[in-house]
Amino acid sequence: MKDTLKHNGMRNKLADVLSAKGITDTKVLDAIKNIPRHLFLDSGFEDHAYQDKAFPIGAEQTISQPYTVAFQTELLKIKPNDTILEIGTGSGYQTAVLLHLRAKVFTIERQRELFKKTKLFFTKMNYRPKKVIFGDGYKGLPQQAPFDGIIVTAGAPEVPKPLMSQLKVGGRLVIPVGVEEQVMTLFTRKSEKEFEKQELGSFRFVPLLENKN
Ligand code: SAH
Repeated sequence: MKDTLKHNGMRNKLADVLSAKGITDTKVLDAIKNIPRHLFLDSGFEDHAYQDKAFPIGAEQTISQPYTVAFQTELLKIKPNDTILEIGTGSGYQTAVLLHLRAKVFTIERQRELFKKTKLFFTKMNYRPKKVIFGDGYKGLPQQAPFDGIIVTAGAPEVPKPLMSQLKVGGRLVIPVGVEEQVMTLFTRKSEKEFEKQELGSFRFVPLLENKN
């Protein structure tokens, strides 16, 4: 599949839709305008790529809705060279958005097929996360901690403790918490022991899986 002017036009329209829905960070909108989302879907589905919708990517997983990707990314308030941990690599689209904001990205995926497929795709596209890891994001990534930001892209029944402890002071954890429906939750680490918690609306995600293959 190629990236064409037509795709570029559709991306610009998608960015307008997201800004009408309340996304204001111009760097995030710029990422939406530049990243060829249709290439993250299997060929044949490109008509769906620039609608503001989630879409199946195999292994019972989905590429998150563009609005959700933009909303979560905006909450991270990324500065160039920030170190970000992403739980749930999936299609890699959210990873590409983080890279566009010049973050150093570590990303963890629990489904082996998706991990392999997306890792190859990153190489093909010349996207360069610091590391793509096959494993369980519940544990975070202690060997690379602490992080400026952690983003969880699957619905977490509860907040994994290791993720809180792997944040820098001043760092932010963006996590959808809940079972059927999730509340987007932002934790900001104020000091070693204090966290500020903000709840920012309901979303629907595929579940964060624990101890399963
Ligand atoms: N960021 C992705 C969203 C994918 S959906 C994108 O932009 O396409 C959520 C992903 O989280 C799925 O791929 C799922 O396999 C993965 N996942 C679920 N539980 C996980 C866990 N415990 N650790 C790491 N990844 C997990």
